[in-house]
Amino acid sequence: MIRFDNSYARLPARFFASQPPVPVRDPALFALNRPLAERLGLDADWLAGADGVAMLAGNAVPDGAAPLAMAYAGHQFGGFVPQLGDGRALLLGEVLAPDGARFDLQLKGAGQTPFSRRGDGRAWLGPVLREYLVSEFMAAAGVPTTRALAAVTTGERVIRETVYPGAVLTRVAASHIRVGTFEYFAVRGDTEALAALTDHVIARHYPGAEGPLGLLDAVIAAQAGTIARWMALGFIHGVMNTDNMAVSGETIDYGPCAFMDGFHPDTVFSSIDQRGRYRWSEQPQIAVWNLAQLATCLIPLMGEQDAAVAAATTSVHRFPALYQAEWLARFGDKLGIDATPEDQPLIEDLLRLMAAQRADFTRVFAGLTEDRARDEFTDRAAFDGWAHRWQARHPDPARMAVANPRRIPRNHRIEQAIQAAVAGDRAPFERLADAVVHPFEDRPEWDDLARPPLPDEVVPRTFCGT
Ligand code: AMP
Ligand code: MG
Repeated sequence: MIRFDNSYARLPARFFASQPPVPVRDPALFALNRPLAERLGLDADWLAGADGVAMLAGNAVPDGAAPLAMAYAGHQFGGFVPQLGDGRALLLGEVLAPDGARFDLQLKGAGQTPFSRRGDGRAWLGPVLREYLVSEFMAAAGVPTTRALAAVTTGERVIRETVYPGAVLTRVAASHIRVGTFEYFAVRGDTEALAALTDHVIARHYPGAEGPLGLLDAVIAAQAGTIARWMALGFIHGVMNTDNMAVSGETIDYGPCAFMDGFHPDTVFSSIDQRGRYRWSEQPQIAVWNLAQLATCLIPLMGEQDAAVAAATTSVHRFPALYQAEWLARFGDKLGIDATPEDQPLIEDLLRLMAAQRADFTRVFAGLTEDRARDEFTDRAAFDGWAHRWQARHPDPARMAVANPRRIPRNHRIEQAIQAAVAGDRAPFERLADAVVHPFEDRPEWDDLARPPLPDEVVPRTFCGT
């Protein structure tokens, strides 16, 4: 018996479309996240059994669930789309964990909805496993993120460039409310819905926030923290559209995302991001742009127009300073120092050296603690000069050890795991999934997962999970 309490389903009917998932032919469990099941108060053995798998595949709706597709809009690559919505995902309901915390349970790949447009409502195993691996690594590395509870295969075929095995991901989130959810009502001039949504988000995520301006301030602070953590891991989200930015501050929508191997600030993986709009170095600026869209949506709720615009603008303009403080704290942790603004050149000089030599982002930082970082540079004298300045700040290795992952889900390893899974071999996925949720442990048996790709292993492009 799952403890559901579906607060989103109690919002006005125009917030969503109620419907059950579309059943699949032959569901089978591919992966189950037992620690997360326990966190949610769910019985992992039940989930792994026939009834549990039927729920995870969308073939059975559990008592207390209220499945629905959420309505939202969004700016995609800067262009506004007034209606997007859950086209291949359904919110099953909100689970109350034993400690009272509330989590959305969402099935991604659950079939067509009124928001599917021309899409088939399905997902294939590749993007499902990519999201599973990356989101679980992010959680283990301390980044606010949606989680992956399970992956099931459907026994159906999904047609993309070629034919792939279908799959459903069970995603867990603080909520799936996005900047684009606000935009959906704002573009319709539906102030009443905006007010209801604002109250809902405050009650759910920011109980201390006062009114729409308080909400805006809180979302901005949360996003500044999250994006700084992405930057500190060399993470590139890849599709930072406003519909892919959660107001909870959790990282959401692991489509064409990837981590850098050799560092360069302009790195982009997504095949559709030809101009590098969402490149690594641009992510904080894009966050500001997205948050400005949220601010615009909230202005009608903030009283007299001129004062509202001024207050919302001030709030958005606070992002750079908040982000900068978070960035300093994160890179300070990575270097084992209490970073002050005077340390900014020290951090930036290291990144510049790394970029010039395409040094491996993860290995440089993980190697600093053990004097192995200089091996990542071709011009070692330049690195030694930098390291001398750094040592003068008396770095704390214990602090660095829990800030610099030894292993990340490297893009080529994700691709290898997906290819093996499609061919029927689950082992590489299971091994990688285990390794990436223990990112700070020194485990020699996983050393191969810590090494960068060989030239013929490099996977330079990623694709949206459609
Ligand atoms: P995303 O790229 O995942 O952020 O998706 C953007 C929009 O396209 C969302 O409204 C999705 O629900 C929708 N979408 C993506 N893939 C599919 C699909 N296979 N079937 C239906 N809708 C989809
Ligand atoms: Mg999306």
